[in-house]
Order: sequence, then structure tokens, then C-alpha cells
Amino acid sequence: MKYVNSLLDLIGNTPLLRLSTSLDDLGAAAGPLVLAKIEYLNPGGSVKDRIATRMIDAAEASGELQPGGTIVEPTSGNTGVGLAMVAQARGYKCVFVCPDKVSEDKRNVLKAYGAEVVVCPTAVAPEHPDSYYNVSDRLASQPGAWKPDQYSNPHNPRSHYETTGPEIWEQTDGRITHFVAGVGTGGTISGIGRYLKERNPDIQVIGADPAGSVYSGGTGRPYLVEGVGEDFWPETYDKSIADRIIEVSDADSFAFTRRLAREEALLVGGSSGMAAFAAKQLATELAAEGREDAVIVVLLPDSGRGYLTKVFNDEWLGSYGFATESDSHTRTVGEV
Ligand code: PMP
Repeated sequence: MKYVNSLLDLIGNTPLLRLSTSLDDLGAAAGPLVLAKIEYLNPGGSVKDRIATRMIDAAEASGELQPGGTIVEPTSGNTGVGLAMVAQARGYKCVFVCPDKVSEDKRNVLKAYGAEVVVCPTAVAPEHPDSYYNVSDRLASQPGAWKPDQYSNPHNPRSHYETTGPEIWEQTDGRITHFVAGVGTGGTISGIGRYLKERNPDIQVIGADPAGSVYSGGTGRPYLVEGVGEDFWPETYDKSIADRIIEVSDADSFAFTRRLAREEALLVGGSSGMAAFAAKQLATELAAEGREDAVIVVLLPDSGRGYLTKVFNDEWLGSYGFATESDSHTRTVGEV
């Protein structure tokens, strides 16, 4: 019989999928290979399962997290799911602090795992008492509480240095030439990028960032794509790793997210569309330079299931002035 004893044993070892149809308009007959690392296949549905286990393991080992303790974290959802999954397996309580722009779907997922959710306003400065950083600090100062703090915890990038980076190196037989990832805490790009550059210093690491975020030279102007971009520089982001940042607009991120679903049957979130759009732009540039031999790996962090009322909803997109497909694929019974 083939089975695992713990759901946590199913984290990682996600596959690489070659993108095809969504790159058809690239213009090159045999353009660079663009391979998507499908992180929604982790048991909690995102790349964040990886950092959750690594951060909790380390806190148990150091004694910061005691048996029966409470995990408190400001999270846009995915890290919460990862932490809630591990917490359930090991008997911890979870309290998550989310900004109000996070979809209700995502919050309900956290509650389904038995966690408590506290919602904070997005439109306040990080130093405001109601900001999600400050609210989580207050909760974390209570007895028995431990805050992983994915924005400063070295085990966030380390989990990628130890798992995702080596997986990508092995899956491409060391032939990867470019790695593309969206940047939120920066853990993904810093950990994977550092590992890959240690194996081959010629590998180019490219960050994808929503227009307006600090990583692409902005000040944190609100953008709608979730999970990426920041209005401050987190400790988990290693500035020495990325060779380049590609800035992507919300409009391009959302349009490409929808193309991935329709043309590749990849139902992924907006930050995946953003990263894949940046990878396609890179592939276009490389094709123009005759670099048909390039092997680009782009990491797709989560599933589109959490965004059905947003990115995949024509009315929501239209309300922000973004283009939508005219054929909405819904007919009333009278039209059939
Ligand atoms: N996409 C989504 C949906 C996320 O939740 C996150 C994490 N904030 C990221 C991308 C960015 O990953 P990282 O924090 O490792 O930079």
C-alpha cells in the first residue's frame, strides 16, 4: 500500500508544467521554454505550506512555541492556511489578522480550519494602532502566544533554500537559466534565488512586482493584486538576489490570470498571473535576442479558487475599469 501518515508529508515536490497556448502570441516559432511551478498542489493550496512547517519546526525546537500555545500572524490568507494545517496536526490554536482587502472566501477558508480571524482596515499607515501589524503585535504579547512573523523570520526564505530551490534545480537538470517570482515578503525569491545562484551564478533571478510597490520603485500606492508588493522593505527580502524587477499593472496581471485559466486550464490567483505575465515578457525579450535555448521557471503561488468573486468576476473587474471578456459563458434557461 502507498500512503502517508500525515498531510504534512504531502508538502513540496510540486511539478513543473510547460506553458504553451498562453505563449502562442510570443512570435517565436520555438521560443524559450517557460515552465510553471504549480504550488497550488500543496495540501493547503499554496506555496506558503512550505514556510509554515519550517517556521513551526524551528519555534518548537527553540522553545518559543510551547505545547498548546497560540500562533498569531498577520497574513493575507495563504500563510494562515499553512499554519492552521500544521497547528491542527500538532494541537496549537491560531489567530489570524487580515487586512480588509482580503477576500471573504480566503477568510472563510481560515475559519474552516478552526482558526480565529481578526479583520483590520487597509487604509491606515503601518504604525497606526489598528494596522494589521500592530493588532497582531498586541495579540502576540499575550501569554502562550507566538508570532512567526513571516516578514522577518529567516526560516521563511530558508524553507525555499532547502526545498523549492533544490526541487527546481533537479527538475530542470540544472538547465534553468532564469527564475521568475512575485515578491511579497520576498522569502520565495530570496531563498530560491540564493540556492540557484550558488549552484550556477549565471542564473538570472527576476522579481515580478505590482506597479506602485516598493520593489519596483514605488511608495506602496494601493494595487489590487493580492499577496505581492509591499509598502516597506521586509527583512526576509534579500536585496542582493534579484537581478531585475519587472513591474506589472493590475490590468495585465488580471487579464493574464484569466488567460491561464482559459488557455492552459490553470486556475491560479492574480499573483500567479502577474508572475507569468512577467515571465512571458522576459521570454519575448530573450526570443528577440535569439536566446531560444533559455529555460525560464516561473513560480505560481496559489489557486484561483480564492478569487472567484474578484479576478474571475466580470462585474468586479468592470467596477475597476478593467477589460472583461464579452462572452460571459452564462445563459439563462430561456436562451437554451
Ligand atoms: N502570491 C501570493 C498569493 C502570496 O500569498 C504571497 C505571499 N505573501 C506571494 C505571492 C509572495 O511570496 P513571498 O512572500 O515569498 O514573496
